[in-house]
Amino acid sequence: MSNIDQNTQDRVKELREQLNLHAHHYYVLDQPKISDQEYDILYRELQTLEDTYPELITDDSPTQRVGDQILEGFTKVAHSQPMYSLDNAFNEAEVGAFVERVKKQLDEPVSFLCECKIDGLAIALTYENGQLVRGATRGDGTVGEDITTSLRTIKSIPLRLTDSISAEIRGEAYMPKAVFRELNAERDEQGLVPLANPRNAAAGGLRQLDPKEVAKRQLSAFMYGAVYNDEFQPDSQENLFETLNDLGLRTNSLRRLCETTEEILSFIDEIAELRQELPYEIDGVVIKVNSIEQQDTLGYTVRAPRWATAYKFKAEVATTTVKEVEWTVGRTGVVTPTAIMDPVTLAGSVVQRATLHNVDFIESLDVRIGDSVQIHKAGDIIPEIISVNTDQRDEKSVPLEIPTHCPICQSELVRLNEEVAIRCVNPLCPAQKLALISHFTSRNAMNIVGIGEKVIAKLLSADLVKDIAGLYYLEESDFLQLPSTKEKSAAKYYQAIQTSKEQSLERLLFGLGIRHVGAKAARLIAQQFKSIQNIMDATPEAIEAIEGIGPMISQSIVQYFEDDEAKALIGRLDQADVNLNYLGQSVEDIESQDTYWSGKTVVLTGTMEQYTRSEAKKILEGKGATVTGSVSKKTDILVAGESAGSKLTKAQDLGIEIFDEAQFIELI
Ligand code: NAD
Repeated sequence: MSNIDQNTQDRVKELREQLNLHAHHYYVLDQPKISDQEYDILYRELQTLEDTYPELITDDSPTQRVGDQILEGFTKVAHSQPMYSLDNAFNEAEVGAFVERVKKQLDEPVSFLCECKIDGLAIALTYENGQLVRGATRGDGTVGEDITTSLRTIKSIPLRLTDSISAEIRGEAYMPKAVFRELNAERDEQGLVPLANPRNAAAGGLRQLDPKEVAKRQLSAFMYGAVYNDEFQPDSQENLFETLNDLGLRTNSLRRLCETTEEILSFIDEIAELRQELPYEIDGVVIKVNSIEQQDTLGYTVRAPRWATAYKFKAEVATTTVKEVEWTVGRTGVVTPTAIMDPVTLAGSVVQRATLHNVDFIESLDVRIGDSVQIHKAGDIIPEIISVNTDQRDEKSVPLEIPTHCPICQSELVRLNEEVAIRCVNPLCPAQKLALISHFTSRNAMNIVGIGEKVIAKLLSADLVKDIAGLYYLEESDFLQLPSTKEKSAAKYYQAIQTSKEQSLERLLFGLGIRHVGAKAARLIAQQFKSIQNIMDATPEAIEAIEGIGPMISQSIVQYFEDDEAKALIGRLDQADVNLNYLGQSVEDIESQDTYWSGKTVVLTGTMEQYTRSEAKKILEGKGATVTGSVSKKTDILVAGESAGSKLTKAQDLGIEIFDEAQFIELI
């Protein structure tokens, strides 16, 4: 080693230490400190130095092992065959080099199956006689963590296969983009630290010890691999996918068999185009030798198969300038900062707002007005500032001022213990009222069509309503007092409010805006307790006994209803004839769901995360429903996935029952 210059030796040591530290933040704490791209650059540098000076390789080098670390608190599972990582190709030339190397080594015709690289975490499912008996993480590749109870909460993982074979199936668990977006908005609102990206959110979710907490993360999974045995012996990667599908396992249909580098690159281009629209996060394309026999011939390095490589998409970053910071008060009083920037195109859309999450985030970035900043989309979804170009900063610039008083009601802001958020705790703050009433009227709550933020702001400033119950005491003529409101609109608003009186309890419960009570929790609780009175009388234990409800939710509900003002609010809603009972199906009804759909006319719209439209159609038809293409008076139910458009509006206008994907899944 003595003939290797000291600088190189020091650099290798430094890289190893840095990478190991970042791996700890990433895999153990689920809170990476640098972007994946930055990590990959450091990793490449170490790999290159180690290739040149193999004497410098040590056992603890990240290049010598699969990265994930095993957490305490889980039963360890030794994998029957190692779970490997993948080598990377960062550009087209590296893809070409991979293809050439494989062709040269095999010296016979080769084809490649290209698949999406799902950005989640690798899982292994053991089925015995068709029954799911165990689920594990990849861990360090040799030993993983037993997360069976967590994986059982994932609806796309079948507990029983269609054939009673025994096999170990491998794939990726992930968090859908929409769930990530919602969870982070909720976390900002609750003053919690945001989840870094969907992958870390999924990993953190699966390692929760309480399955109820896991279920909240609404994870999903795609399968793409297996440990082969006598009963389970596909001859190609393509054939493996078909077999997995036949067994009832979920696979990703975006894949293609390619013969040449050109074909592979054109598949990569197509996927890169599609990427933004997919409901799940992908970070590249995996290229695998299709024939299993050829895969066996090529074998493995200590870390990765020689028969596959992952082409990694470049993280998109843009540079822009911060013009101002807006502080908004949410319905729970949390004051959240947003940077307003010069508009810039980033990953397919024009961006001019980036969340700054909370005061800690601002302080650690030290972002200031006028700063030139680099932005990316966290988990490819939420615009976020990643760094500040401090060298371009104006000398006179000053650190960002953190408000001490509510920007709306001027009352003093507080920081509750251990929270990263600052809050306005004035219960009369009009901004909180506006946010709360808007939440109450929103689509997933009471669905009072037409009464959005603008109308509510007018109602508040005209002092026509003071709280959500106030909406039900408005006369049609009251709306005519609002600026630029004509008779036709007044009638429409009034009617929408009257119609909403008939909504079922779960919508009302969600609409109250009780901390931690999301739409799903509200539905589970309403189904169980049937009336608001029963919920108000319930003990935390009785609420927690519901599958999917944890202590945070139950305590929050009990606390909410202990308050006299909350009781008075319910009283006023009751007096105004707002329905306070559950009108949907009971838990027992849902269990005998097959009868639910029979004879009903259903329309499907938007994109669903777990089913294609034709799959959903098939399921519904199997349950006796008629699925039609357009919404009319005859439609009984509209199932609306993401980005639903005119059909949804029409169904709302016609007062047709609308289910989102989660409700649909629950009922099938
Ligand atoms: P990887 O994510 O680059 O690739 C291997 C993984 O891809 C497999 O284990 C599997 O889980 C997954 N995968 C998804 N779709 C697949 C498919 N169709 N076929 C086969 N596999 C598929 O490697 P890794 O070892 O899991 O993790 C390294 C990654 O973690 C790098 O992207 C790195 O940037 C990131 N990382 C980041 C930090 C940080 O601080 N930001 C730290 C450590 C690691």
